[in-house]
Amino acid sequence: MEAVLCPKTPKCPIFHGILKGTEYTDTYKKLYCEAGEDGRLKCRRFQVAEKVGICPPDILPNSVKTVDEIIEKMKKEGII
Ligand code: SF4
Repeated sequence: MEAVLCPKTPKCPIFHGILKGTEYTDTYKKLYCEAGEDGRLKCRRFQVAEKVGICPPDILPNSVKTVDEIIEKMKKEGII
């Protein structure tokens, strides 16, 4: 059976970091984190982490930046 909850929740800032408890946190959880595979595959944080293993803490699930733009910035900043 498909896991409803995103496997990244234990370390995701939406649940445990700077994005926890904001005005939009519950909406993000419903749309992405608790919406099965379809939900998390739309999440920019999930998409970036699937490619390079991590995602900067300030990237929102609905970030307008593309995965490639985020990864490019991470490389410039020496994060990866
Ligand atoms: S914000 Fe994205 S990566 Fe984080 S738990 Fe939710 S779906 Fe997973």
